[in-house]
Amino acid sequence: MHQLIAGNWKMHGLAAQAAALAREIRAGAGGMACDLLVCPPFTQVAAVAGLLAGSAVAVGGQDCHVEAQGAHTGDISAAMLADAGARYVILGHSERRQNHGEIDRLVNAKAVAAAAAGLTPIVCVGETEEERSAGWETGVVAGQLQGSLPDGFAGAVAYEPVWAIGTGKTATEADVAAMHAHIRATLVRLLGEAGRGVRILYGGSVRPANAASLLAVPEVGGALVGGASLKAADFLAIARAAIT
Ligand code: PEP
Repeated sequence: MHQLIAGNWKMHGLAAQAAALAREIRAGAGGMACDLLVCPPFTQVAAVAGLLAGSAVAVGGQDCHVEAQGAHTGDISAAMLADAGARYVILGHSERRQNHGEIDRLVNAKAVAAAAAGLTPIVCVGETEEERSAGWETGVVAGQLQGSLPDGFAGAVAYEPVWAIGTGKTATEADVAAMHAHIRATLVRLLGEAGRGVRILYGGSVRPANAASLLAVPEVGGALVGGASLKAADFLAIARAAIT
């Protein structure tokens, strides 16, 4: 399976900026030996999906509600994302967990809703700096996987150590190797043989300068990229570092 290079635009992108970024990425995306994904803010999903239609770049959302429709002011359902042209959705990002109090059980229900709408969920897990200092990182991540992944999960997982997100700090290759091996073993324990087919992305200050070494680590199935995904040249350079 190809590696997946996914851009999380977070709360960045008015119409003109999002369109320019999407066009630049489309122009440079041909012939890549990886799968490419961009996740714009909700307001730009349909426009970006239109601009990327027929290209090698898929579009995703950054969150969804657990229900397909209803009285949920301000929320967006997985069905709405799919209707707007999305094929993926990021779930349980640490910024959702921290800023919106999202817990594993909710992420789990969202993953069920995403699959029901035909979206591929990318479920994020990762320990905080305090948890790693205390030596709890493997237990924390295993607990998040156990709580967040529904039976029959067929999406991707992103390992994003919270202390590495947007900080310029990255986990060492040895730390990434150890955690991704632990995640793989946990996926197989939870999902059986199907757990071997789940892509495990690394996220946390991935840049063109460190992408090749991070993407070469065993069990790294791609990258979830925040800041560097807002510059087409950087995002494409990271994608060129993908392992075939
Ligand atoms: C992210 O938020 O998913 C992320 C990895 O951000 P950054 O690349 O900016 O650390």
